[in-house]
Amino acid sequence: MKPLLEINNLSTHYHLEQGLLRAVENVSFQIAKGETLGVVGESGCGKSVTARSIMRLLPPRIGRIAEGEILFNGVDVARLDPRGTEMRDIRGGQIGMIFQEPMTSLNPVHTIGAQIVEAIRTHSDLSKAEAMEKAVMLLDRVGINQPEQRARQYPHAFSGGMRQRAMIAMALSSDPALLIADEPTTAVDVTVEAQILDLIAELKAERDMSVMLITHDLNVVGEVADRLIVMYLGRVMETTTAAKVFDAPAHPYTKGLLESLPAIGRRSRLKPIKGSVPGPHERPPGCPFAPRCDKAMAICQTQPPTFRIDDDTSAACWLYDDEVRHDG
Ligand code: SF4
Repeated sequence: MKPLLEINNLSTHYHLEQGLLRAVENVSFQIAKGETLGVVGESGCGKSVTARSIMRLLPPRIGRIAEGEILFNGVDVARLDPRGTEMRDIRGGQIGMIFQEPMTSLNPVHTIGAQIVEAIRTHSDLSKAEAMEKAVMLLDRVGINQPEQRARQYPHAFSGGMRQRAMIAMALSSDPALLIADEPTTAVDVTVEAQILDLIAELKAERDMSVMLITHDLNVVGEVADRLIVMYLGRVMETTTAAKVFDAPAHPYTKGLLESLPAIGRRSRLKPIKGSVPGPHERPPGCPFAPRCDKAMAICQTQPPTFRIDDDTSAACWLYDDEVRHDG
Protein backbone atom coordinates (compact mmCIF):
# COMPACT_ATOMS: atom_id res chain seq x y z
CA MET A 1 0.00 0.00 0.00
CA LYS A 2 1.26 3.50 -0.86
CA PRO A 3 2.08 5.64 2.19
CA LEU A 4 -0.12 8.67 2.85
CA LEU A 5 2.97 10.81 3.43
CA GLU A 6 6.38 10.04 1.97
CA ILE A 7 9.31 12.33 2.64
CA ASN A 8 12.41 11.73 0.57
CA ASN A 9 15.77 13.40 1.31
CA LEU A 10 14.21 16.60 2.65
CA SER A 11 16.62 19.43 3.45
CA THR A 12 15.27 22.72 4.81
CA HIS A 13 17.59 25.66 5.27
CA TYR A 14 17.20 28.96 7.11
CA HIS A 15 19.02 31.93 5.66
CA LEU A 16 19.90 33.95 8.76
CA GLU A 17 22.10 36.98 9.32
CA GLN A 18 24.58 34.73 11.16
CA GLY A 19 24.79 32.46 8.11
CA LEU A 20 23.10 29.39 6.66
CA LEU A 21 21.33 27.15 9.15
CA ARG A 22 20.79 23.59 7.94
CA ALA A 23 17.73 22.98 10.10
CA VAL A 24 16.74 19.73 8.38
CA GLU A 25 19.24 17.63 6.42
CA ASN A 26 18.44 14.71 4.16
CA VAL A 27 15.44 13.49 6.15
CA SER A 28 13.35 10.58 4.85
CA PHE A 29 10.36 8.82 6.41
CA GLN A 30 6.88 7.57 5.60
CA ILE A 31 3.51 7.55 7.34
CA ALA A 32 0.93 4.95 6.31
CA LYS A 33 -2.84 5.51 6.39
CA GLY A 34 -4.11 5.10 9.94
CA GLU A 35 -0.59 5.03 11.41
CA THR A 36 0.86 7.16 14.20
CA LEU A 37 4.49 8.15 13.69
CA GLY A 38 6.35 9.65 16.63
CA VAL A 39 9.05 12.23 15.84
CA VAL A 40 11.36 12.41 18.84
CA GLY A 41 14.35 14.52 19.81
CA GLU A 42 15.58 17.35 22.00
CA SER A 43 14.63 20.92 21.15
CA GLY A 44 16.45 22.29 18.12
CA CYS A 45 16.70 18.89 16.40
CA GLY A 46 14.53 19.86 13.42
CA LYS A 47 11.21 18.22 14.39
CA SER A 48 9.09 21.36 14.13
CA VAL A 49 10.89 22.60 11.02
CA THR A 50 10.06 19.27 9.37
CA ALA A 51 6.38 19.80 10.27
CA ARG A 52 6.47 23.40 9.03
CA SER A 53 8.06 22.22 5.77
CA ILE A 54 5.19 19.76 5.25
CA MET A 55 2.63 22.49 5.96
CA ARG A 56 4.64 25.01 3.89
CA LEU A 57 4.62 27.35 6.88
CA LEU A 58 8.30 28.31 6.83
CA PRO A 59 9.07 31.97 7.53
CA PRO A 60 9.00 33.75 4.16
CA ARG A 61 12.39 34.76 2.72
CA ILE A 62 14.22 33.00 5.59
CA GLY A 63 13.13 29.36 5.47
CA ARG A 64 13.47 27.39 2.24
CA ILE A 65 13.08 23.79 1.19
CA ALA A 66 16.49 23.30 -0.40
CA GLU A 67 16.04 19.75 -1.61
CA GLY A 68 13.81 16.71 -1.49
CA GLU A 69 10.22 15.59 -1.94
CA ILE A 70 7.20 15.75 0.37
CA LEU A 71 4.69 13.43 -1.26
CA PHE A 72 1.24 13.72 0.29
CA ASN A 73 -1.30 11.47 -1.42
CA GLY A 74 1.15 11.41 -4.33
CA VAL A 75 1.33 15.25 -4.64
CA ASP A 76 4.75 16.82 -4.05
CA VAL A 77 3.87 19.52 -1.55
CA ALA A 78 7.45 20.84 -1.72
CA ARG A 79 6.77 22.04 -5.28
CA LEU A 80 3.46 23.81 -4.53
CA ASP A 81 3.04 27.55 -4.10
CA PRO A 82 2.71 28.00 -0.31
CA ARG A 83 -0.03 30.60 -0.89
CA GLY A 84 -1.76 28.83 -3.79
CA THR A 85 -5.20 27.19 -3.60
CA GLU A 86 -3.86 23.64 -3.81
CA MET A 87 -1.65 24.21 -0.77
CA ARG A 88 -4.42 26.00 1.12
CA ASP A 89 -6.67 23.03 0.48
CA ILE A 90 -4.04 20.69 1.94
CA ARG A 91 -3.01 22.94 4.86
CA GLY A 92 -5.81 22.93 7.42
CA GLY A 93 -7.91 20.82 5.04
CA GLN A 94 -6.38 17.43 4.29
CA ILE A 95 -3.67 18.00 6.92
CA GLY A 96 -4.67 19.43 10.31
CA MET A 97 -2.15 20.73 12.81
CA ILE A 98 -2.11 21.43 16.53
CA PHE A 99 0.65 23.32 18.27
CA GLN A 100 2.41 23.30 21.62
CA GLU A 101 0.74 26.40 23.02
CA PRO A 102 -2.84 26.73 21.73
CA MET A 103 -3.07 30.35 22.87
CA THR A 104 -0.66 31.36 20.10
CA SER A 105 -2.98 29.83 17.49
CA LEU A 106 -6.32 30.90 18.96
CA ASN A 107 -7.48 34.45 18.37
CA PRO A 108 -8.26 36.06 21.76
CA VAL A 109 -10.87 38.44 20.33
CA HIS A 110 -13.10 35.82 18.69
CA THR A 111 -15.20 33.18 20.41
CA ILE A 112 -14.08 29.56 20.22
CA GLY A 113 -17.22 28.71 18.23
CA ALA A 114 -16.62 31.50 15.69
CA GLN A 115 -13.04 30.31 15.14
CA ILE A 116 -14.09 26.71 14.55
CA VAL A 117 -16.91 27.90 12.25
CA GLU A 118 -14.37 29.87 10.21
CA ALA A 119 -12.09 26.84 9.93
CA ILE A 120 -15.04 24.68 8.82
CA ARG A 121 -16.25 27.19 6.22
CA THR A 122 -12.75 27.67 4.75
CA HIS A 123 -12.83 24.05 3.64
CA SER A 124 -16.55 23.41 3.00
CA ASP A 125 -19.76 24.96 1.62
CA LEU A 126 -21.65 24.74 4.91
CA SER A 127 -23.79 27.70 5.98
CA LYS A 128 -22.88 29.54 9.19
CA ALA A 129 -25.66 27.76 11.10
CA GLU A 130 -24.65 24.33 9.79
CA ALA A 131 -21.00 25.05 10.58
CA MET A 132 -21.90 26.10 14.13
CA GLU A 133 -23.84 22.86 14.57
CA LYS A 134 -20.75 20.95 13.45
CA ALA A 135 -18.50 23.06 15.73
CA VAL A 136 -20.66 22.22 18.76
CA MET A 137 -20.62 18.54 17.79
CA LEU A 138 -16.82 18.63 17.51
CA LEU A 139 -16.42 20.38 20.87
CA ASP A 140 -18.64 17.71 22.38
CA ARG A 141 -16.57 14.97 20.74
CA VAL A 142 -13.27 16.29 22.11
CA GLY A 143 -14.73 16.22 25.62
CA ILE A 144 -15.81 19.82 26.24
CA ASN A 145 -18.83 19.88 28.58
CA GLN A 146 -21.80 22.11 27.70
CA PRO A 147 -20.38 22.62 24.20
CA GLU A 148 -23.10 25.05 23.04
CA GLN A 149 -22.38 27.40 25.90
CA ARG A 150 -18.61 26.94 25.60
CA ALA A 151 -18.73 27.74 21.87
CA ARG A 152 -19.89 31.25 22.81
CA GLN A 153 -16.91 31.85 25.11
CA TYR A 154 -13.52 33.42 24.35
CA PRO A 155 -10.22 31.47 24.65
CA HIS A 156 -9.25 33.16 27.95
CA ALA A 157 -12.26 31.50 29.62
CA PHE A 158 -10.80 28.06 28.76
CA SER A 159 -8.17 26.18 30.80
CA GLY A 160 -4.94 25.06 29.06
CA GLY A 161 -6.30 21.55 28.56
CA MET A 162 -9.63 22.82 27.20
CA ARG A 163 -7.84 25.12 24.76
CA GLN A 164 -5.85 22.20 23.44
CA ARG A 165 -9.11 20.23 23.06
CA ALA A 166 -10.62 23.19 21.19
CA MET A 167 -7.55 23.25 18.91
CA ILE A 168 -8.01 19.55 18.23
CA ALA A 169 -11.70 20.21 17.40
CA MET A 170 -10.59 22.93 14.98
CA ALA A 171 -7.94 20.71 13.38
CA LEU A 172 -10.55 17.96 12.91
CA SER A 173 -13.13 20.32 11.41
CA SER A 174 -12.08 19.51 7.85
CA ASP A 175 -11.83 15.74 8.47
CA PRO A 176 -8.09 15.65 7.75
CA ALA A 177 -6.36 12.50 6.57
CA LEU A 178 -3.29 13.48 8.61
CA LEU A 179 -3.05 15.28 11.95
CA ILE A 180 0.30 16.82 12.86
CA ALA A 181 0.55 17.36 16.62
CA ASP A 182 3.59 19.43 17.62
CA GLU A 183 4.33 18.87 21.33
CA PRO A 184 0.57 18.98 22.07
CA THR A 185 0.97 18.27 25.77
CA THR A 186 3.93 20.45 26.76
CA ALA A 187 1.77 23.23 28.24
CA VAL A 188 -0.51 20.97 30.32
CA ASP A 189 -0.08 18.88 33.48
CA VAL A 190 0.44 15.11 33.51
CA THR A 191 -3.20 14.19 34.08
CA VAL A 192 -4.39 16.39 31.21
CA GLU A 193 -1.49 15.09 29.09
CA ALA A 194 -2.76 11.52 29.47
CA GLN A 195 -6.30 12.63 28.55
CA ILE A 196 -5.15 14.53 25.45
CA LEU A 197 -3.01 11.60 24.26
CA ASP A 198 -5.93 9.21 24.80
CA LEU A 199 -8.20 11.56 22.87
CA ILE A 200 -5.76 11.72 19.93
CA ALA A 201 -5.48 7.91 19.92
CA GLU A 202 -9.30 7.49 20.02
CA LEU A 203 -9.86 10.00 17.22
CA LYS A 204 -7.19 8.39 15.10
CA ALA A 205 -8.85 4.96 15.43
CA GLU A 206 -12.36 6.34 14.91
CA ARG A 207 -11.44 8.24 11.75
CA ASP A 208 -8.70 5.97 10.36
CA MET A 209 -6.59 9.11 10.43
CA SER A 210 -2.78 9.20 10.35
CA VAL A 211 -0.95 11.12 13.06
CA MET A 212 2.52 12.65 13.17
CA LEU A 213 3.23 13.23 16.84
CA ILE A 214 6.20 15.47 17.61
CA THR A 215 7.63 15.22 21.11
CA HIS A 216 10.82 15.44 23.14
CA ASP A 217 9.49 12.71 25.41
CA LEU A 218 10.04 9.06 24.46
CA ASN A 219 7.44 7.98 27.04
CA VAL A 220 4.75 9.87 25.12
CA VAL A 221 5.70 8.06 21.92
CA GLY A 222 5.71 4.72 23.74
CA GLU A 223 2.10 5.30 24.69
CA VAL A 224 0.58 6.24 21.37
CA ALA A 225 2.90 5.74 18.38
CA ASP A 226 3.20 2.73 16.09
CA ARG A 227 6.61 3.69 14.71
CA LEU A 228 9.03 6.52 15.40
CA ILE A 229 11.98 8.43 14.07
CA VAL A 230 14.60 9.92 16.38
CA MET A 231 16.11 13.20 15.15
CA TYR A 232 19.27 15.02 16.18
CA LEU A 233 20.64 18.25 14.72
CA GLY A 234 18.34 18.07 11.72
CA ARG A 235 19.03 14.45 10.82
CA VAL A 236 17.21 11.16 11.38
CA MET A 237 19.35 9.04 13.71
CA GLU A 238 17.07 6.03 14.00
CA THR A 239 13.82 4.70 12.55
CA THR A 240 12.16 1.98 14.60
CA THR A 241 8.91 0.78 16.18
CA ALA A 242 7.47 1.91 19.49
CA ALA A 243 7.42 -1.74 20.52
CA LYS A 244 11.19 -2.09 19.99
CA VAL A 245 12.59 1.23 21.08
CA PHE A 246 12.51 0.54 24.82
CA ASP A 247 13.98 -2.97 24.64
CA ALA A 248 16.39 -2.63 21.76
CA PRO A 249 17.32 0.96 20.93
CA ALA A 250 19.81 0.88 18.07
CA HIS A 251 21.44 4.31 17.94
CA PRO A 252 23.69 5.59 20.76
CA TYR A 253 21.61 8.79 20.84
CA THR A 254 18.35 6.84 21.31
CA LYS A 255 20.05 4.82 24.07
CA GLY A 256 21.14 8.09 25.69
CA LEU A 257 17.59 9.48 25.52
CA LEU A 258 16.25 6.32 27.17
CA GLU A 259 18.84 6.34 29.95
CA SER A 260 18.02 9.95 30.73
CA LEU A 261 14.30 9.18 30.96
CA PRO A 262 12.62 9.04 34.35
CA ALA A 263 10.69 5.76 34.27
CA ILE A 264 8.40 4.24 36.87
CA GLY A 265 10.08 1.35 38.64
CA ARG A 266 13.53 2.10 37.21
CA ARG A 267 16.24 0.76 39.48
CA SER A 268 19.29 2.26 37.82
CA ARG A 269 20.07 5.94 38.24
CA LEU A 270 19.19 8.44 35.57
CA LYS A 271 22.12 9.07 33.27
CA PRO A 272 21.85 12.30 31.31
CA ILE A 273 23.57 12.42 27.91
CA LYS A 274 26.94 14.10 28.40
CA GLY A 275 27.39 17.61 26.98
CA SER A 276 24.60 19.57 25.36
CA VAL A 277 23.13 19.99 21.91
CA PRO A 278 25.55 22.23 19.97
CA GLY A 279 24.26 25.62 18.84
CA PRO A 280 22.66 25.77 15.40
CA HIS A 281 25.84 27.12 13.81
CA GLU A 282 28.21 24.71 15.57
CA ARG A 283 27.32 21.53 13.73
CA PRO A 284 30.27 19.12 13.99
CA PRO A 285 31.61 17.52 10.81
CA GLY A 286 30.72 13.85 10.33
CA CYS A 287 28.27 12.24 12.72
CA PRO A 288 26.44 15.09 14.48
CA PHE A 289 26.27 13.11 17.73
CA ALA A 290 30.04 12.36 17.82
CA PRO A 291 31.04 14.98 20.47
CA ARG A 292 28.55 13.44 22.92
CA CYS A 293 28.96 9.77 21.97
CA ASP A 294 30.87 7.28 24.18
CA LYS A 295 31.35 5.00 21.19
CA ALA A 296 32.82 7.60 18.80
CA MET A 297 35.63 6.30 16.53
CA ALA A 298 37.90 7.87 13.93
CA ILE A 299 35.48 7.01 11.12
CA CYS A 300 32.76 9.05 12.88
CA GLN A 301 34.42 12.19 11.50
CA THR A 302 32.63 11.15 8.29
CA GLN A 303 28.83 11.37 8.14
CA PRO A 304 27.49 7.79 8.48
CA PRO A 305 24.98 6.50 5.93
CA THR A 306 21.76 4.90 7.19
CA PHE A 307 22.24 1.19 7.87
CA ARG A 308 19.27 -1.17 7.80
CA ILE A 309 19.34 -3.35 10.92
CA ASP A 310 16.15 -5.37 10.40
CA ASP A 311 12.76 -5.00 8.71
CA ASP A 312 11.63 -2.21 11.08
CA THR A 313 14.83 -0.60 12.24
CA SER A 314 17.57 1.47 10.68
CA ALA A 315 20.22 3.73 12.20
CA ALA A 316 22.66 6.35 10.93
CA CYS A 317 25.64 5.05 12.88
CA TRP A 318 28.97 3.51 11.88
CA LEU A 319 28.56 0.80 14.54
CA TYR A 320 26.30 -1.00 12.07
CA ASP A 321 28.79 -0.98 9.22
CA ASP A 322 29.94 -4.56 8.52
CA GLU A 323 33.60 -3.57 8.18
CA VAL A 324 33.60 -1.56 11.40
CA ARG A 325 31.94 -4.46 13.23
CA HIS A 326 34.40 -6.93 11.72
CA ASP A 327 37.44 -4.84 12.70
CA GLY A 328 36.01 -4.24 16.17
FE1 SF4 B 1 28.61 7.43 17.91
FE2 SF4 B 1 30.03 7.15 15.68
FE3 SF4 B 1 27.61 6.07 15.83
FE4 SF4 B 1 27.93 8.71 15.67
S1 SF4 B 1 28.46 7.20 14.10
S2 SF4 B 1 26.58 7.65 17.03
S3 SF4 B 1 29.77 9.02 16.87
S4 SF4 B 1 29.40 5.52 17.05
